[in-house]
Amino acid sequence: MRKHSLLDATKDAMKKFNIKASKKYGQNFLVDRTVLERIVDTSSIDAESMVLEIGPGLGTMTRLLCERAGKVLAVEIDKDLIEPLNINMSGYNNFKLINADIMKLNLKKLFYENFGEKKIKVVANLPYYITSPIIMKLLEEGTNLDTITIMVQKEVAQRITASPGNKDYGVLTLSVQYYAIPEMVHIVPPEAFMPMPAVDSAVVHLKIREKPPVSLTNETLFFQVIKAAFNQRRKTLLNALKGSHIKLDKDDIEEVLSQCGIDTKRRGETLSMDEFAELSNKISYFLKK
Ligand code: SAM
Repeated sequence: MRKHSLLDATKDAMKKFNIKASKKYGQNFLVDRTVLERIVDTSSIDAESMVLEIGPGLGTMTRLLCERAGKVLAVEIDKDLIEPLNINMSGYNNFKLINADIMKLNLKKLFYENFGEKKIKVVANLPYYITSPIIMKLLEEGTNLDTITIMVQKEVAQRITASPGNKDYGVLTLSVQYYAIPEMVHIVPPEAFMPMPAVDSAVVHLKIREKPPVSLTNETLFFQVIKAAFNQRRKTLLNALKGSHIKLDKDDIEEVLSQCGIDTKRRGETLSMDEFAELSNKISYFLKK
């Protein structure tokens, strides 16, 4: 007998609970069992794992997470999905659901209240309208994070995993790679979702670093320099920094770049994270003079 497909199960659940996929909340439900299993396999959760799922939707992935993990906390913004989720998940006593916007939650408090001091794995098929803000919130505010395994637009996955000199290399690349080691694991076609998104997707696995890969005198300035360098991508580093909020005149910038051994004609997109670190450390020294 043909196995009841995830597509049929999703259609049935939507009919039963009178749910229409909400565009506003970026609802593209995963309906491919192989892809679903691959994401959960990639997250390598086991019976000890504490898992946060962002946007459980109808609970398709949530069920598999609950079968494998010690505890699953799910945060879902859409109040219309809360009752269906609670019904669908009623057989699992390691499941907890919070109806909230993940962007509005205090993650330190949320994690401490639900997981104590334990390491946390995030697994999610992220809503595409808000992917980068969610990733950056997790990285900047999330304590005790171990790994983040997420479905994102392929284009975002390419930006996260890019190398210097590549057109996708930019602020998101450096911001994510400062906190984590990323890996693009699978490309996923639109057919894996219902409704189908207009673009390809990809599963990205982030291993959170124990400590940053560069040593900085001023972390805020490091990110200011990066943002300034990519603000006008076509400009040389010299011109991009000159036109930025960083209060250095042209001679000072030339001096700093020369001390770092960076040609003034180079563009920001060619600099490695190490070079940005050295540059911002030198700028910090210059600003204090
Ligand atoms: N996990 C489900 C699946 O794979 O079928 C649904 C994934 S769907 C791409 C994104 C989910 O995130 C939806 O359930 C949506 O309602 C939820 N969502 C959107 N914005 C959110 C937010 N700010 N906070 C929490 N959940 C959100």
